[in-house]
Amino acid sequence: VSVTVPGPPIEDLGSDLTGMPIDPELLHVVQAMVEHKSGELVYTRRWLHARPEVSRAEHETTAALRERLQAEGLSPRVLSVGTGLICDIGHEGPLVALRADIDALVMHDAKDVPYRSMNDGACHACGHDVHTAVVLGAGLVLRELIDSGRIRGRVRLVFEPSEESLPGGALDVIADGGMDGVQGIFGVHCDPKIDAGQLGCRIGPITSASHHVAIRMTGPGGHTARPSLTVNLADEVARVVRELPGVVQAAADGLAADPARGEVRLVFGTIHTGSASNVIPAEADLTGSVRTPDPTVSDALMTIVPQAIAAVLGTDMRPDAEGHEGSRPDGLHWYLRHRPGVTPVINDAAATRMIASAALVAGGPDAVCDTAHSWGGDTFGWYQGLVPGCYARLGTHWPERPDRLDLHRPTFDVDESAIPFGTKSLVLAAIGWMTALG
Ligand SMILES: [Zn+2]
Ligand SMILES: [Zn+2]
Repeated sequence: VSVTVPGPPIEDLGSDLTGMPIDPELLHVVQAMVEHKSGELVYTRRWLHARPEVSRAEHETTAALRERLQAEGLSPRVLSVGTGLICDIGHEGPLVALRADIDALVMHDAKDVPYRSMNDGACHACGHDVHTAVVLGAGLVLRELIDSGRIRGRVRLVFEPSEESLPGGALDVIADGGMDGVQGIFGVHCDPKIDAGQLGCRIGPITSASHHVAIRMTGPGGHTARPSLTVNLADEVARVVRELPGVVQAAADGLAADPARGEVRLVFGTIHTGSASNVIPAEADLTGSVRTPDPTVSDALMTIVPQAIAAVLGTDMRPDAEGHEGSRPDGLHWYLRHRPGVTPVINDAAATRMIASAALVAGGPDAVCDTAHSWGGDTFGWYQGLVPGCYARLGTHWPERPDRLDLHRPTFDVDESAIPFGTKSLVLAAIGWMTALG
């Protein structure tokens, strides 16, 4: 016996998308269990929201999660980096991981709500408090279902620290064996562009690779009256800012497996040079990010960017201890510190259809929508290099509210009806994936 919900005509997901096959009685139990827990989950989200902790400092969050899981008789393992944890549920059968990131941002909380941040300078403005509550809730429900023998399989809860800092805590999870034996992974991220009650799904790249770029340029310096006697450093800096993105793009063209995904965005965020209006500076520092949805282009950027700097400035180029450098006979030097960031999140087709089907069953025929590729980054892509998985966008916008909030804004907040819906979607996706694996 199975429940079938007609799916939306979403080209990307397949027009035949329907609700996952599930015993209606089991579905009823899942719905009732999540509704029963939704008060605790909203409370948990608000508790976390009031106590945000930034990357690598998630000690109180980690302790609270550990205590809650231990109270259920579970044995969570704190990661060896000291924050974040992994908790296994069940003893036999296929292993599915559910991932939440737990860190907050270094920023002010400008909201006037009872659960406003009590930690000055830290704010859950990316919704990781919601992700944590949803994965905790899904874990508690799946634990009851497994223990009561209603379903067979194993679940690993991954509470990842320092997602907001490059290259991200996913690498710490993996280093501690967090993906060992895992046969599928699901996670959600809040999205205020989507209404609460909907899950935005996309097969293939959904976020971008993002790398930090830092360039130091030096020259002999001199008098602004006589630029011909020296290197006009401000002019060289301007050429890098204006010309480098185009040269990098030209070098990347043709490398992407799918030409539609070969775009590169190199954008500078800081430029610091000079101290006086009549002195040609001897030093300049530029920082920015370079992003692409394509993993091949992402890898190639490590060599494309230094080659492009050398081409723009007409210098030689050689690797050095921390990156690349180059120079010109007139005394211009540059040093590139190219810190690799995150890889793109690339959603597995079967896993994406599974969580979309789960959301349809959880929320009805309007519960799934298509979602666009974003130029942001997320560490979830590190897991997908090892395990098939899907990262979906959990709608958090209040349908009746006229203004639309954005992530990383000091006023970010969510329609908390997203919490039980997200929990149900993850529970059902895990059940579906375990069932499919047998
Ligand atoms: Zn964020
Ligand atoms: Zn985030």
